[in-house]
Amino acid sequence: MRIGVQLPNGLKKRAIEICEELGSDVILSGESCFGACDLDLSLLTDVDFLYHYAHTRILKFGRVIYVPYFVDYDLEKVADSIKKISERDLALISTAQYCHKLPELKELLQNLGFKVELKKGSERVEYAGQVLGCNYSVLRDSNAKAIVFIGDGLFHAIGASFYTGKKVYAVNPINFELIEVDSSDFLRTRYLQISKCVGLSKVGIIVSTKPGQKRLNLAEELKKMAIKSGLKAIIIYINEITPEKLENLPFDFYVNTACPRISYDDFKRFKKPIITPTEFEYLLKLREDIGIDEIE
Ligand code: SF4
Repeated sequence: MRIGVQLPNGLKKRAIEICEELGSDVILSGESCFGACDLDLSLLTDVDFLYHYAHTRILKFGRVIYVPYFVDYDLEKVADSIKKISERDLALISTAQYCHKLPELKELLQNLGFKVELKKGSERVEYAGQVLGCNYSVLRDSNAKAIVFIGDGLFHAIGASFYTGKKVYAVNPINFELIEVDSSDFLRTRYLQISKCVGLSKVGIIVSTKPGQKRLNLAEELKKMAIKSGLKAIIIYINEITPEKLENLPFDFYVNTACPRISYDDFKRFKKPIITPTEFEYLLKLREDIGIDEIE
């Protein structure tokens, strides 16, 4: 039996050990692996099973086995950090590596007198409280006064703040640092990116061929809107979206229907503006706010 292995960047340094544990007939994917949206379908055709590490299931592909990678952390110390928050009515969110402990954290905080919301989101997320850079459905219709993100980095916390308009705190489960998140810079940056597209006429609408990011129907809708507004619009298929791949293309700006993090997090790497679908609709005056780009 031949096994394929897909590892995210953070685990690639352990590739030899992981592959050896799985036996001798193993093929390691050398492609990028940013999320469960990013299955190596080419490797899948040549193996009996594909082991995809550290992400939770998004796509229902046969022969793909998702191997969780949970990071342990001290809940008492996380709760000590949360005790400093003035709001007593909280929603808990986290990423795939840390969300396995949220039910226990909820209980701990309730025993300390907090009211705690921990909800399951859409089918794209597996665990209660789990968020992705493209999905904050666990916070839809949240009644909490404030949100607490458990994890590293601030990207998801800023996303949660933008998504809900509520106060968001981030607690790092490794060093227990508590930060109150401010999404105003993020918002300013997005308006600046959109303003750079005003008056431009040639738009490339990017569709990723990665199976869990591919939104061709959305791209086709956006193309119709663009043409109706007098723009020239072409749909472009790309697997991994990098500045080099856009280098020789003649477009003035891009609408990215692939992973929202490319527009939100990576836009500085690109020479031309690369905005989200909802921002494009705002640019065309088809909606009143810039929205947040979510993949259901
Ligand atoms: S589309 Fe982007 S944010 Fe969503 S799961 Fe994939 S890599 Fe993560």
